[in-house]
Amino acid sequence: MTGLVVVCHSRPLARAAVALATEMTRGRPLQVEIAAGLDEDTYGTDAVAIMEAVVAADDGDGVVVLMDLGSAVLSAETALELLDPDVRDRVVLCPGPLVEGLVAAAVAAASGAGRSEVAAEALAGLAGKESHLGVTEQDQITEGTQGGPSAKVRVTDPHGLHARPAARVVGEARSFDARVELRNATTGSGWVPASSLSKVATLGVLQGHEVEVRASGAQAQEAVARVAAVAGSGSGLSTGRALSTGASQDLGSAGENGAGGGPQGRAGAVAGAASPGVAIGPAARLRAVPIDVPDVPSLGVEPERQRLDRALDQTRRELTRISDPIFDAHLLLLDDLDPEARTLIGQAHPAPQAWQQAVAAIAADFDALPDPYLRGRAADVRAVGDQVLRFLVGAPAPTLAGDGVLIAADLTPAEAATLDPTRIAGVLLAAGSPTSHAAILTRTRGIPAVVGAGPQVLDIRDGTLIALDGGSGEIAVAPADAVLDAFRARAAEQRARSQAARSRAIEPAVTTTGVPIAVGANVGSVEEARAAAANGADLAGLVRTEFLFQDRTAAPDVDEQLAVYRAIAAAFDGRRVTLRTLDAGSDKPVPFLPAPPEANPFLGVRGLRLSLAHPTVFAAQLQAIALVAREAPISVMFPMVTTVGELRRARMMLDEALARTGSGRPADLRVGMMVEVPAAALRAADFVPYADFFSVGTNDLTQYTLAAERGNAALMSLSTGLDPSVAQLIDLLCRAAGDRVPVAVCGEVAADEQAVPRLLASGVRQLSVAPALVPLVKQAVRAT
Ligand code: PEP
Ligand code: MG
Repeated sequence: MTGLVVVCHSRPLARAAVALATEMTRGRPLQVEIAAGLDEDTYGTDAVAIMEAVVAADDGDGVVVLMDLGSAVLSAETALELLDPDVRDRVVLCPGPLVEGLVAAAVAAASGAGRSEVAAEALAGLAGKESHLGVTEQDQITEGTQGGPSAKVRVTDPHGLHARPAARVVGEARSFDARVELRNATTGSGWVPASSLSKVATLGVLQGHEVEVRASGAQAQEAVARVAAVAGSGSGLSTGRALSTGASQDLGSAGENGAGGGPQGRAGAVAGAASPGVAIGPAARLRAVPIDVPDVPSLGVEPERQRLDRALDQTRRELTRISDPIFDAHLLLLDDLDPEARTLIGQAHPAPQAWQQAVAAIAADFDALPDPYLRGRAADVRAVGDQVLRFLVGAPAPTLAGDGVLIAADLTPAEAATLDPTRIAGVLLAAGSPTSHAAILTRTRGIPAVVGAGPQVLDIRDGTLIALDGGSGEIAVAPADAVLDAFRARAAEQRARSQAARSRAIEPAVTTTGVPIAVGANVGSVEEARAAAANGADLAGLVRTEFLFQDRTAAPDVDEQLAVYRAIAAAFDGRRVTLRTLDAGSDKPVPFLPAPPEANPFLGVRGLRLSLAHPTVFAAQLQAIALVAREAPISVMFPMVTTVGELRRARMMLDEALARTGSGRPADLRVGMMVEVPAAALRAADFVPYADFFSVGTNDLTQYTLAAERGNAALMSLSTGLDPSVAQLIDLLCRAAGDRVPVAVCGEVAADEQAVPRLLASGVRQLSVAPALVPLVKQAVRAT
């Protein structure tokens, strides 16, 4: 028999509702449980109690859960996560009304209906009342009080119009040439502009509330119809979608690589395998460090507004990069906060103070709401507010609160670069793909990571035990003992393999046919250079110098750069060091090189293009490189070269730097370029006269060849591994290079054991990989 569970803030109310419903079943048996109130007199709901009630109500035919309002819904959703996956798949959270729905559900369940039918009956529980009172689900569009069209609609989304549904309403309202307004007819609120997320969210609209929409302007009619539809369903879809079953709680939504079955208690979810290794530990998060806002007077209205514009642009870029609906809501909040802050700047407040006040005012509006879930949205306002404030005052990024498996939406390259492997067992990201910069940096630091696991991972509570395998992408949340044992066994096997590889790390890597292959390391700090040398790297095949430039308000001067390049060269102790010039822009912004907003930043002013656009910064870097090249075997490498003209200009600037720093050209200096743009691979022969070496950046080459942004989780299957089209470009490049120009690969596929034989067959003779992977890649070469 289908069981019923009543989730309600008040225990007496739940009991009375059950008594009423039981009365209607006329003595037929009914399996109904209550999970209501924290005790007899205290209002509240408890996920564990709900979970236990579901287990008690389930005899194998499944359970329909009816909830009252607000946090009851959230607690019920959390309870689902606590259930065994097979039980969870039999549970339906039903948005039907508590009393009428329960009565209808009880009658249906007692007469033997299955759980879908019982839930449908409950959902239609208001039909009798509505038809009696002459109310339809979505009232006809009528002439509004302002003379324009208007409509009333009942909200069916279980969370009412909270951040995400509200963001969809706002997005729709803004897409029409009309002024659209909303009000909560159930509470009798005033009208608010539908284009403002904070105003819409503060209407306190809960499931079952009636919202009134009105509009004026050219597209008023269409706007009212569309906004009412979206507000009503929360998604613009039919109400049939409102029923949620346990199956929808699974982790992962990463396109083809997305999660399979529920992860609870077993290794059922698979996402982007970003950095090999097994990690087991409690879930931990980044916590913001307090932001220190200096008490200095305004520099004037215009400069302060420009400062705000820059910080907003940077924040928008970050939010857009993550591209998850929750961050779409944050983007809309920025639009609400912006005018408030701008007004305060006009009243002689400096930008940071004006921004803080605007954030405090709007967050306070949310704090004042009666519904706890909507009240919780104040946290979104403060989170996005802090993000902007950090850019305004140049404050550091959040730091890790505890040790364990770090869970985050995504990490900026700067955040990923500072992860401490002694504290972080592993990384689990909602967004990103294995070739995103955050993923690369976890690999560089030897931290197992799974990325693109979908926004559900953000709901995992701090402290929950997580096991993940960054080599296969498997994740287990709160794993059962057997699953945990399997992860531990795998970890032991990987440790043994890596120890065997490490014991031969300093030996050269030679193929079975006797071809020597240089295996270098990609490094992004002096510390990583030391780790790479200790792991037997034959050279530094790629030094990502941008680590010196990120997260600061001014470029490092020549002396500072020289000191770092010298320290890296010292770590490699006579082995070659390939210094790549600044590769900033798009997802690696540098605050002191403000870039105008770009519609497609990955196709914009980045890499060498950005350096050439800022000749003073570029010249200083080349000068530091020229100086260290007089002391150690250095290769200079230019990133993202597209045309021969760019390479020649860069070489000319290097020649000028060499002339400024002494006489003659250091004998051991080599100058080369990254091949990351298909145009460069296709025209390789034209570059040959100007390059001492080519190094293929497969991360970008793949992104540009397959038109698949490297950080986009949904496109992970396109951007991971060695695609045949990229392999063909590498073939072309090697043929054009012939014996004159050696070809290296420093993109992530260089560490892909499956890809190594193919790369070597094309003629690649140098591989450069994350420091921790050097010994394993040497083994892969030896097996080729
Ligand atoms: C690449 O694009 O493959 C590369 C090595 O450069 P980065 O990942 O730093 O863009
Ligand atoms: Mg690149």
